[in-house]
Amino acid sequence: MRQLHHDIYRASGKRLAGVGVPKRKNTDAVTPYKMPSPGEVILPMSMHIGKPALPAVKVGDSVCMGALVGEADGTMSSPVYASISGMVTEIPVVTLPGGRTSAAVRITSDGEERPCASLEIPYITGRDSFIKAVEKSGIVGLGGAGFPTHVKLDVEFSSADVLVVNCAECEPYITSDTCTAVNCTDEAVLGIMSVLEYLGIPRVVIGLEEGNVHMLMAAQKIAKEVPNAELSLLRDYYPQGAERVLIYHTVGRVVKMGQLPIHAGVIVVNISTAAELGRYLKTGVPMLTRCVTVDGGAVRERRNVTVPVGTKVRDLINFCGGLCERPKVLLFGGPMMGVEADSFETPVSKNTNAILTLTAEEMNLSAPSNCIRCGSCLAACPYSIDPAAIGRALKRKNAESVSAHRVDACMECGCCSYVCPAKLPLAENNRRAKIFLKEVRNNG
Ligand code: SF4
Ligand code: SF4
Repeated sequence: MRQLHHDIYRASGKRLAGVGVPKRKNTDAVTPYKMPSPGEVILPMSMHIGKPALPAVKVGDSVCMGALVGEADGTMSSPVYASISGMVTEIPVVTLPGGRTSAAVRITSDGEERPCASLEIPYITGRDSFIKAVEKSGIVGLGGAGFPTHVKLDVEFSSADVLVVNCAECEPYITSDTCTAVNCTDEAVLGIMSVLEYLGIPRVVIGLEEGNVHMLMAAQKIAKEVPNAELSLLRDYYPQGAERVLIYHTVGRVVKMGQLPIHAGVIVVNISTAAELGRYLKTGVPMLTRCVTVDGGAVRERRNVTVPVGTKVRDLINFCGGLCERPKVLLFGGPMMGVEADSFETPVSKNTNAILTLTAEEMNLSAPSNCIRCGSCLAACPYSIDPAAIGRALKRKNAESVSAHRVDACMECGCCSYVCPAKLPLAENNRRAKIFLKEVRNNG
C-alpha cells in the first residue's frame, strides 16, 4: 500500500463545487441481512443503460436459479438471469421508478432455491475472454447508473493507465457500498486485480470520504492485498462520488464534456461492482442478488439486505418489519438523485442501491417561491452551470439559450436544488430542459 494522500484540492487549493449534506448513515455498521427467496420476483428486461434485454422464456417454463430469462439485445445491453427457481407465470409490462416502462419476467417460486447445474467458473485466458465473461455475468454499474460493465471495460489493452475504485458513497442514507466493501473484501480484491491484470492498467487509486470509518477500514484491507494501491481520502462532500468529480479529486484529471473517463486514461469502477465481479469470477454464478439499503423514517427496521434481484419493494419492506407510517415518498436511490416509485409492487433492479421510505418531515417540503437571483445555485454546481438561467430560457422556449447554458453537461446531482432558498426544483427543471432540447433537435 502506498502512502495515504489527501485529495488534490488540498495540494492545489482547487476543488469542484458541491454541497455539504447531512449524512444520515443509519446502517453503516451493519452486516447485511440475507433475505430468503420471496414468493415471486419480477425481473425487468431494462435494468441497465442501453437496449433492454429480450425475454428468453415463456409462460409455463420452469427455471432454476441462474437460468437465462432475458437475452442481451446487442452489445449495449445486459442479460438477465432467474434469481429464484420456479415457474414463469407472466411476461408483463411493468412501470419502473421514474415512470419508464419495461417488459419483465415474473417467476413464481417453487420454494426450492434450485441452482442451475450448468453454471461454470469462467475460463479466462486474456483480455477478450475476460470481457466476454463480464458480459455473460450480467453485471452492470451497481453504484446506481447501471452502465453495462463489459462495455465500460471493453477498451484497448493498456489504453487506461489508472483504475479509480469508487468508494465515495456520498449520498445521504445509502450504505450498501460500505456494507459490501466490509463484508466482501476478498471478492472486491479479486475484481480489482482482474481488471488491472486483463486490461493492463498499472495504477489503482481507491477514492473514499474521510469520514467513512467503516469504508476506510475495508479500503485499507483491500489496499494491503492489491500491490501499489493508493488510497485517496476525500473531503465529506456531495457529489464526491460523481465520476468526473471523483476523477478530478483523486487523480487530478479533467474529463471534458462530451467525453468519457477513458478519454482521460481512466476507468472508474464502483466498489460493489468490483466485488460482484470478483464473486462471479470465483463462482461462475451470474448476478442474482444485490445489497440494498432500506431506510427512511417510515420503515420499522433500517437495514442493509442482500436480496434477490426482482424482489418487490413490498416484500423487502415486510422483511424489514413493515412500515410504521405511510411514507410521503418512496425512493429508489438517495434523496439527492433517487427516483420516485409510485407502487410497492416495483421490483428491486440490479442497480438499486437503496429503497428509502421518507416521511414528510424528512423531505422538508415547502412550496417554491420566486427566484431572488442570489446565485447560490451557480456557486454550488460542480460544473459551474447556471440552472436559474436555464429555467428562464426554458420558460421562453429559447432552445439556443438553453443549449448555450450547457444543460447537456448537467448530471442532475441536485446540488442546486438543495441550496436554493426559493426551493425551486432546479435539477428537475434541467431534466425537462434536456427533453425540450432533444425534441427541438429531433424536429430539426
Ligand atoms: S443538477 Fe445540474 S445544474 Fe444543478 S448542480 Fe447538479 S450539475 Fe449543476
Ligand atoms: S439559488 Fe434559487 S433563488 Fe438563488 S439564483 Fe438560483 S434559482 Fe434563484
